[in-house]
Amino acid sequence: MSFNESKILPFSSEVSSSGVLQINGHSVDDLVEKFGSPLYIYDEDTIRKMCSNFNESFQKFYKNSHIEYSCKAFTNPFVNKIIDEEGLYMDVVTGGELAIAIASNFPPNKLNFHGNNKGKEELTQALIYGVEHITIDSFAEINLLNDIAVNLGKFQKVMLRLSPSIDPHTHLLTSTGILDSKFGFSIETGDAELAIKQTLDKSNLILEGVHFHLGSPIFELEPFSEAIEYVLGFCYDMKENYSFILKRFSPGGGFAIGYQTDKKPPEISEYAKVISDSIKQSCDKYNLDYPELIVEPGRSIIGRSGVAIYTVGGIKKIKNVRTYVSVDGGMGDNIRPALYQSEYSVVSAAKVNHKRDNLVTIAGKFCESGDILAKDVFIPNPQIGDLLALPASGAYNLMMASNYNMQTKPAVILIKSASESPILISRRETYDDLLRLSIFE
Ligand SMILES: *Cc1c(COP(=O)(O)O)cnc(C)c1O
Repeated sequence: MSFNESKILPFSSEVSSSGVLQINGHSVDDLVEKFGSPLYIYDEDTIRKMCSNFNESFQKFYKNSHIEYSCKAFTNPFVNKIIDEEGLYMDVVTGGELAIAIASNFPPNKLNFHGNNKGKEELTQALIYGVEHITIDSFAEINLLNDIAVNLGKFQKVMLRLSPSIDPHTHLLTSTGILDSKFGFSIETGDAELAIKQTLDKSNLILEGVHFHLGSPIFELEPFSEAIEYVLGFCYDMKENYSFILKRFSPGGGFAIGYQTDKKPPEISEYAKVISDSIKQSCDKYNLDYPELIVEPGRSIIGRSGVAIYTVGGIKKIKNVRTYVSVDGGMGDNIRPALYQSEYSVVSAAKVNHKRDNLVTIAGKFCESGDILAKDVFIPNPQIGDLLALPASGAYNLMMASNYNMQTKPAVILIKSASESPILISRRETYDDLLRLSIFE
């Protein structure tokens, strides 16, 4: 493909002879004509390729490893089925995500339940479904979960989420393993040791291992090796002090993807090598058996497979200041730029080969000055009705979507293959959907 975005769009993206962006042979303008705008397009081949890339990369360096998709990045029955078929495990962080997993018949023995404040109903629902692991994140949860397990007459396998006080050098709002974080038992403060001790003492909890998650997206490799060595050193101490046997170990997810053409993330195999080598070296050093490795990618499995398509409406030129190009979506379907100052590349989807000589700012349609999707990007001369594509829109955008301004959420389609018609996997919201929860008398 002749344009820069080929590395951040779905693998099968091409440009037609008339200059229209195609995803696995399907022209974006035809898809918008059929399904409307704004539109989220997911490419099944890209999801499957990323699953096998993770499977193969980690298998190569660490035999006893499994990939666990963090479905908070994007969950839907069709996607859950693909994840299951590709042999991945999955983790959920709320009863709602669990409900979708259950409705998709996702096997309970491949599920893990994360979250820093799981409620009694959520945990009960998880135990009844038979979720394989629960990752405990607070002292209150140790007691609550044991009580629930006793009541149901079950023995529950658990992991503990630890906080290693390591800065992954990403946005502060997406750093989760630093000391000042709501997540995890801090090793530094002694909470982690107390949590190990308390969990081992519980009648109906089976402590299988520990977990940490540093944040996201992490473009560097060192934070992983640093944290792994520190946490495994802690596990050695816990073996000495409490005979704790580490059977299962997870360094979380947070692997970066390309959002912009000029900021390249490491390859999955590079992350795999660093993580695997660090675990083996630390286990050798501390004389620990190699645990089962669980890797938890969310963004990096699903992000690249999704493309958001918007239609240009108003164009406002402020001489010597800026040109605003307004589109029919914005912070309601993608709050990442407003929340994290995330940056995107923008492709004019039916003018891919045109010269990009207009410096513009892409604004959403929501009533906030901060509703900007992309600031200072070059696109071909913008005109009303143009389609703009934002690559790498598959992770988090729609899961964080809101109905601010009573805007309906976009339709989501899945491209199965070049020869099959794309299918709707989540229909566009209607005003009736918005009215459904209101009580009128
Ligand atoms: C969000 C999350 C992940 C996945 O993060 P990505 O950046 O999407 O890879 C993994 N583990 C835990 C515990 C998480 O909260």
